This record gives sequence, structure tokens and C-alpha cells, in this order.
Amino acid sequence: MYSNDTIAAISTPPGRGGIGIVRISGPTSLQLATSFFRSQSTDQPQPNRAQFGRIVDPDNREFLDEVILTFFKSPHSYTGEDLVEISCHGSPIILSRLLEMTIERGARIAEPGEFTLRAFYNKRIDLAQALAVRDVINAQTLYQARVAVKQLEGELSSRISPSKDAIVEVIVQLESSVEFVEDDISPETLSSLSQKLREIIKTIESIAASFTFGRLVKEGFELAIVGRPNVGKSSVFNRLIGVDRAIVTELPGTTRDTLHETASIKGIPVRLIDTAGIRNTIDPVETLGIGRTRTAIADADISLVVFDASSPINHSDIELFTSVPEARRILAINKIDLSSAVNNDFANNGSEAVETAVRISALTGEGFDSLVERIFERLSGDNATERDDIMLTDARQYAAVSKALEFLESALELLQQGELEEIILLKLRGALSALGEITGETLTEDILGQIFSTFCIGK
Ligand code: GDP
Repeated sequence: MYSNDTIAAISTPPGRGGIGIVRISGPTSLQLATSFFRSQSTDQPQPNRAQFGRIVDPDNREFLDEVILTFFKSPHSYTGEDLVEISCHGSPIILSRLLEMTIERGARIAEPGEFTLRAFYNKRIDLAQALAVRDVINAQTLYQARVAVKQLEGELSSRISPSKDAIVEVIVQLESSVEFVEDDISPETLSSLSQKLREIIKTIESIAASFTFGRLVKEGFELAIVGRPNVGKSSVFNRLIGVDRAIVTELPGTTRDTLHETASIKGIPVRLIDTAGIRNTIDPVETLGIGRTRTAIADADISLVVFDASSPINHSDIELFTSVPEARRILAINKIDLSSAVNNDFANNGSEAVETAVRISALTGEGFDSLVERIFERLSGDNATERDDIMLTDARQYAAVSKALEFLESALELLQQGELEEIILLKLRGALSALGEITGETLTEDILGQIFSTFCIGK
């Protein structure tokens, strides 16, 4: 799949901007660029130096634009090949003409992600790093970008590599016992190998566990805000979002539709769903809203159940509260700014649910820091304490790690059952190959092609 021709693309996003960049990579990139680049210096552009000049259209000798040309010499470039970046003014018409000029001189338009694919083939980066490039570009929050940049620096790969080395060690030890010993593996070797395998399994299990949180970081989560009419759902929604989108009204039951909005909770994208109030009604529109609330609860990763501190808890509050599975609900008692008898009732309620509820006021903003904390804790679960921003964020990576785990567990089991070494070795090699899928060593061209086709053009 890797061809070593010269490719070119506009690497900046479509539309007008201050600067636009055309990127050219491949053996003829410099020759090609200098055929239409004119500068005061008669020397060839030097590697890693930005050089000011002009683009002169070879067709009509007309001056196209003032540009900065930067040349990166192989292998010290993003792709590992000779690479030229021409920064011109961010005008779509100039950028297209510039790209066209490179094509007229023999370059080919790059496929999506092809620059990064070349970087991968030339071993500048591994697959985990290549995916991280895409994630950095697609990040919606700074936290997502930080996680992706760590992967880009190879931290995920280096977390996995000790386990790979350890598996290789076990393989070598086992292979030598097959070669030299006629009898079964000695009890000492058996116990040392089992111990090693157990340690590897433990490490890989913790990497696999990081996906629970990593998936949320990458894909975000859904938070439904539910409660009976007028408890302040829309107000809570707006405060969480920081934008006045849902209509706040005094009339119960007027938020009929489900509203969606994306916000971020400590850097994790969250799709907030504001639902219509749940109550028994014959109004068909309202009934529709209630159905949607139930759907929202079913679909959401977390439901924030809102009670109103200024009115007594009633059976619909309880019904709603208990309809959400415990692991997925957070109870918030809103309107704590209203000091009423009912509010005191709440304080003295004594029930566990009310005691652990987060007390908030959508009016004053009180308690929202704790609410955000609570949501975050619920999301990150046990991972919260050992979180170091290095985590699996990709389903394919997770599948690979899970496959490796299966192989390792079965290798351990077979080892203890005194199974033939060859069979255990097969399992161990399977585990190694599964882990290799994360860095891309053991993936087929088809799968690599699929992965890189999800990149944007020019990257
Ligand atoms: P929803 O029907 O559950 O979406 O409730 P709304 O958000 O529309 O709020 C209903 C009424 O309660 C509105 O008049 C809000 O201004 C008011 N409200 C909401 N939150 C608070 C709060 O924390 N304190 C006070 N005092 N009023 C609030």
C-alpha cells in the first residue's frame, strides 16, 4: 500500500484564513517546489529553515503570492521523507492553484491521512501515535487534547512495551525448556513462569480497565436531567451549560421536548439532555415528553434526578428516583436558596438518598462545584485515584488488549494443567500479536487502510 511517489495536499482547513499551507512529501518534493518558488537567495532551501520568497506561476510567469517555504530533509520530517511546506495567504483560490501546480509537476493528491500513514510506514511513529494525531485534531476539550498529546508522545506504547518484553521472556524460557528437557517443566520453572504470567496479566488488566474512563474522555457521555415539572431542570441545565438555551418558565410542564446541548465536565464532553417533567397527564404532547424522559434515562450514562427543596417530596419524585438504576443516578436537591419549612424537612429527612444528595441552587449557583465533582466521580469510578492521563481511548485498542488477556489467561491455565509447551507457546504468541495491534506491528494492510481513511485530508 505504501508507494513512494510524491504527494501533496492543502493541510489547512477549507475556507479563508490568515495563512494556508500546502504540504508536499516524497522524493521530488523539493525539486518540484523550487520549480515555482523564487527567493533572493540563489541557494537551495536549507533543511529546517523557513525561507521567504514568491510563487511564480510557470504557465504565465505571473506572480501568485508571497510565501514562506520550509524544507524538511528525510528522515527528519513528519513523514520521514523529503517534505516541503509552503505557507501562503489563506485564500482558497491561491491554495488550489498552488496545489494544482504541484500536481502539474508530477505530485499526486494525498489520500486522507496519507502523510501520517507514511510517517507510520517509515517508523517515525507507531499506530497508537498515529491515532493520537487524529485525536489531537478532533479534540473538543483541552483535557481530550492533553490525553491525546500524551499518546502522541508514545506514552501508551511505552506503557505496553514492558509487558511485551515480559511475554517474550516467558516465550524464550519456555522454548529453551522444550529444546533441552525431555521431561516435564521442573516445578521451579513452572512456578516462576506462572508468577511472571500473573504479573503480566495484572499489568494488562489495569491497562484494559483504563478504557472505561478513556472511552468517556474520547467519546463523552450523556447526562439526562430528570425531575417533576418546575423543580428547576431547565435552570440546572442552563447553569451546567452556561448558555441560556432551554426556556425557563413558571408554568409546570412547559418544557415538552427533550433538549440536547454539549458542555464539558472537567474536560469530558457531556451531552446534556433536558427532559420534560414526568407526571401523569392526558395531554398527548406531554405524554410524548414523558416517554422521552424514560428513553433519555435508559440511554443516558448518568441521570441527574432533581428534587425541589421548596416543595415536599411526593410519590412521583420517589417513583422517578427509583426508576433510575442506582449506579447511574445522582440526586440533586435544587432551590436550597429558599429557606422554607420544607427545606428544613429535607435537611432532617434522614433517608440515605437525601443525605447523600448534592444540594444546589440553580438560581445562585451554590453547590454546582460539588455537583460537577460528583458527576465526575461517578464517571471515573475507581480510576479516579490512579488516573495519570495515560489510558486506552480507542475501541480497537481495547479489543486488542482484551484479546491479549484471553490468550494470557489461557496460557497460564494450560501451563498449570501441564499442557504441552507448544500449545502454551501458541497462546503466548497470540497475546504478543494482539498487543502488537496497538502499535500496528501486527495489523493487515486492509485494517491499516480503514484506520487511516478516517483521517482528514492533508494530515
Ligand atoms: P423545570 O420545569 O423543572 O425545567 O423547571 P424550571 O427550570 O423551568 O424552573 C421552574 C421555576 O423554578 C422557575 O421559575 C425558576 O426560575 C425557578 N427555579 C429554578 N431553580 C431555582 C433555584 O435554585 N432557586 C429558586 N429560588 N428558584 C429556582
